[in-house]
Amino acid sequence: MAILLDGDATAATCRAQIKARAQASAFMKKGGQPCLVTTLVGDDEASRAYVGRKHQDCVELGFASRSIDLPLDVSQAELLGLIARLNDDPSCHGLIVQFPLPDHLDQAAVIEAIDPAKDVDGLHPLNLGRMLLGYPAARPCTPSAIIALLQAYDVPLAGKRVAVIGRGLLVGKPLAVMLADPAINAVPTLLHRGTGPLDDMLRESDIIVSAAGQPNLVRAAMVKPGACVVGVGITYVDGAMVSDIAEDVAQVAAFVTPRHGSVGPMTRAMLMRNLLDVALAQDAAKG
Ligand code: NAD
Repeated sequence: MAILLDGDATAATCRAQIKARAQASAFMKKGGQPCLVTTLVGDDEASRAYVGRKHQDCVELGFASRSIDLPLDVSQAELLGLIARLNDDPSCHGLIVQFPLPDHLDQAAVIEAIDPAKDVDGLHPLNLGRMLLGYPAARPCTPSAIIALLQAYDVPLAGKRVAVIGRGLLVGKPLAVMLADPAINAVPTLLHRGTGPLDDMLRESDIIVSAAGQPNLVRAAMVKPGACVVGVGITYVDGAMVSDIAEDVAQVAAFVTPRHGSVGPMTRAMLMRNLLDVALAQDAAKG
């Protein structure tokens, strides 16, 4: 049976390391506190739970946080106005607008409105461009989480064939770029709906990361024995959470993510890492 990539335990270790680095920083020693501001439009239960966990992480790390609730019918102009005020507010170091947004709001315009220096999700076009160039910038949290989880289990990456399923902007596309960075040196292949049958390409892969959001897309027969398989995509079927990775994969893989407590907690740990980094950068910029 495969070894489970325990994201809960690994994230706890990451948070402890981030907390130690924060407490050792001149910024916190002089009384500073990284501060996350989250904005939630409407009252979707799942989104509220996601946001709540980010605030809990801030408390655990000794960081400050504020949440701003907006009504479901908030206008684009009102939301952009709020973002502009938070961009100018020196007590807000990191700013998140929780997605998905209702259809009348323009998600791309919202991301672009956030000051890139406060973009702790790493999704602003400037930060994605800096990532492509290999320059320092906040990296998208979920791809960072996947790489950090694999590294925590000493899964070799350099020279390894990695099949990344899904070319979404949140996970697949930035992950493929980050894996190809010389610092990681993996050999990613980005697979998507236009790829055709995935079977042969998956069977040749040392690592499979599925970020498609298709229940049980990756099955044991598609996996090379001894491969490492990471499920990112999640779908709710009849109220139950279903992974992209079928349960039988654990019988052939060397490493596999569990259904719960894998990439999600690590994603939040990477958010805390980004928050500390941007807070320290903003403090340093003040001189
Ligand atoms: P997205 O919808 O933007 O992208 C999904 C991609 O999957 C698309 O590029 C599509 O072409 C591809 N795809 C779908 N079905 C496919 C198939 N049968 N074969 C090949 N490719 C296929 O989604 P996203 O925002 O990138 O997120 C991907 C998934 O990851 C979602 O299920 C999301 O809920 C999940 N997610 C989880 C976390 C976490 O922390 N656990 C974080 C972010 C996203």
